[in-house]
Amino acid sequence: MIVVMEERATEAQIDAVIARLIELGMDVHRSSGATRTVLGVVGTGKIEKEMIEILDGVHEVLRISEPYKRASRSYHPEDTVVTIDDLRIGGDEVIVMAGPCSAESDEQCQATAAAVRRAGAKVLRGGAFKPRSSPYSFQGHGEHGLQMLRRAADTHTLKLVSEVMDVSQIELVAKYCDIFQVGARNMQNYTLLRELGHARKPVLLKRGISATIEEWLLSAEYILAGGNTDVILCERGIRTFETATRNTFDISAIPVVKKLSHLPVVADPSHGAGRRDMVAQLARAAVAAGADGLIIEVHNDPDHALSDGAQSMFPAQFDRLMAELRIIAPAIGRSICLEAVARRGWAR
Ligand code: PEP
Ligand code: MN
Repeated sequence: MIVVMEERATEAQIDAVIARLIELGMDVHRSSGATRTVLGVVGTGKIEKEMIEILDGVHEVLRISEPYKRASRSYHPEDTVVTIDDLRIGGDEVIVMAGPCSAESDEQCQATAAAVRRAGAKVLRGGAFKPRSSPYSFQGHGEHGLQMLRRAADTHTLKLVSEVMDVSQIELVAKYCDIFQVGARNMQNYTLLRELGHARKPVLLKRGISATIEEWLLSAEYILAGGNTDVILCERGIRTFETATRNTFDISAIPVVKKLSHLPVVADPSHGAGRRDMVAQLARAAVAAGADGLIIEVHNDPDHALSDGAQSMFPAQFDRLMAELRIIAPAIGRSICLEAVARRGWAR
């Protein structure tokens, strides 16, 4: 932290600021220029910038380190790779997670899982507890939904990511999923985040609808501080003044977060766009921008989906997107499901 004193700050004011900082457990390095005195402050003491800003004679306080620690790249310079058996999220390979918004039936879960697996996805996505904006919309099938998703994931050798909305659901969701999803609406549910800090499964943390990148990383910090180091960040679009798309997909968040944090970043172009005819464009851009993975809504019959049908891709669209990503990923030094290339030969 750097404390810039006012031009006319008196010696007594400067001494009082230094004394207060020392009292708060900090080391202070004073440098006095022709017009101003600047104090360099380091140490492990916890101080709020505002506590110093209000002291007499202080002009400005500048924070030079991030308010989050464990999530920060300066604390952990190497990329974190989240490993689940042989799946590595945050390594060279771009990992694709795909599936329906909600689990609806065994037939739907099985058909969609088969299609996304064939196209090269490694993780099945699907919600059983749904955070819907309206209490009258389909709320998910609960444990029965988790059972259908797990069966489909196992049949098609996929891992499973599914949303947990409340602390009371953690144990149940953990029985079925490989990755917990924390939805955008729950990014600041600090009780849930704290509890997931003690969970033994990775957490995919979506960015809140109106959250800044700093707030998002502070939410990740809650999970990391509890001892769970397997946090995957997910950019899913934020609310802006624009109404042409469901949300505004913040592509720049990907390089920003990769610079500020060591955690893997996955992009959700489905909730970003809100319409299936724009999902592929955003998905391609996200991979080109450095995303470590994608999470995409795909449905075997999207026109009859119980939630988010308009933004769910048809299996054939998803298949084509995967073929395109296989061209983009190597161009930026990444791979993407090479097994499927070998298996299918990829005629376009
Ligand atoms: C979802 O993944 O279906 C979902 C509800 O996402 P979000 O929390 O990003 O809105
Ligand atoms: Mn959805």
